[in-house]
Amino acid sequence: MSGSEGKLLCGLIGAGIQQSLTPALQEEEARHHGLRLHYQLIDLDTAGASVRELPGLIAAARIMGFAGLNITFPCKQAVVPLLDELSPEAAAMGAVNTVVNRGGRLVGHNTDGSGWAWGFRRALPDADLGCVVLLGAGGAGSAIADAACRLGVGELRIVDAEPDRADALAAALNARFAGRARAFADARAALSGATGLVHATPTGMAKLPGMALRASLLGPHLWVSEVVYFPIETDLLRAARAAGCRTVDGGTMAVGQAVGAFELFTGRQADATRMAQHFRGLLATR
Ligand code: NAD
Repeated sequence: MSGSEGKLLCGLIGAGIQQSLTPALQEEEARHHGLRLHYQLIDLDTAGASVRELPGLIAAARIMGFAGLNITFPCKQAVVPLLDELSPEAAAMGAVNTVVNRGGRLVGHNTDGSGWAWGFRRALPDADLGCVVLLGAGGAGSAIADAACRLGVGELRIVDAEPDRADALAAALNARFAGRARAFADARAALSGATGLVHATPTGMAKLPGMALRASLLGPHLWVSEVVYFPIETDLLRAARAAGCRTVDGGTMAVGQAVGAFELFTGRQADATRMAQHFRGLLATR
């Protein structure tokens, strides 16, 4: 949408999202563009609701004239059949994190993967993409896997605590990226000869502290990209730096996906550096 007149109503649908920085991030960037954007948290937990209420929420968002929505856990897959159209990325992943109202038609996008790629390239432009291990084949991992293949990763080795998920993701990627993905049973075997590691499990979050792999598997030949950003400084990032790895924290992906969503919501080019500074400032006050 053009977003040039009136007020833009946007929001985030998910569970347990009261701490989200997205409202402040989107509203402040809009203010810099002279736009009046209100960003509403629609928290299933505080409403005592579940993903079963999602069809009603999407129908209500159409009636209320929402210009755009972000979608997060546990609704990213469930929202797909409720939309009128999907971007090629969202269709390939079967998951949506951004919905845009285009003249009454709800179009689903996925800015998680492109947001990761944007942040990763900004942080480590010369990183060796020859052989990359992806730990975690869930929502974030699937989006990153697609983006990593688009970015030119030579071989993507996928590990998940639930092997079926790693197998399914590798099969789906190989249908699009001709044999570049392979599921591995454990991180030790996958990391042998690898040039980089993307960590995409929830391990390391404030409510789930620790590391999803042993620190002894890290070394200076690897770069490490983290998805967790609450806290921004995870045990994995500390261990990786101690082992001599170059690192990218989860905040770069969080900003990247927010930049993508802002541009889809408003049709304006976001000032990514300004949004990144704002994000870091907001994190520092937590
Ligand atoms: P998810 O539940 O969809 O997927 C997590 C996957 O990790 C599952 O497949 C699970 O089996 C696997 N797993 C869990 N522990 C493991 C372990 N020890 N070893 C191997 N595999 C393991 O979750 P998600 O939505 O993909 O989110 C994962 C993390 O990414 C969360 O912390 C979330 O907050 C974060 N995230 C960050 C951003 C960002 O912008 N930085 C965006 C989306 C998600």
